[in-house]
Amino acid sequence: MQHFALSQRDTLTAKRTSARDLLAKAGLRPTRQRLALAEHLFAAGGRHVSASDLRDELVRKGAPVSMCCVYSSLRRLSEIGLIRRVPMYGATAYFDTETSHHHHFYVANEDRLINVPNGTIKIRDIPAAPEGYDLVSIDVVLRLKPSSQQTP
Ligand SMILES: [Zn+2]
Repeated sequence: MQHFALSQRDTLTAKRTSARDLLAKAGLRPTRQRLALAEHLFAAGGRHVSASDLRDELVRKGAPVSMCCVYSSLRRLSEIGLIRRVPMYGATAYFDTETSHHHHFYVANEDRLINVPNGTIKIRDIPAAPEGYDLVSIDVVLRLKPSSQQTP
């Protein structure tokens, strides 16, 4: 039991340290709210999350964070490339903790993103960027709806 308690504490300390490092990289002061946010955001590996989802998850976890703190932290983390803002036409802005370039499926009725496996989309015949602009990135979103169920 003692060993378990120690290793759990060590894990927690390691998480806190890396959350602190992340915030330091972002030039953000490590307030309690931001530490909880950074820890939670990166705890599950690659994931897609909206600001309001993230806030709701933190509230459920007993670590309430203001919406303002969530927005400003996500914006700053995406500015320095630690997360990626997923370009969407819809109202919800999603942030991706997987920062390597990849495309997404979007399941509209579930309001959920799924990564498209790398190398499965071939893009050809791209128009030249309008004068005065450089092409920076191509982000494909494939919109999905559930397949209709066939009744027996
Ligand atoms: Zn993704």
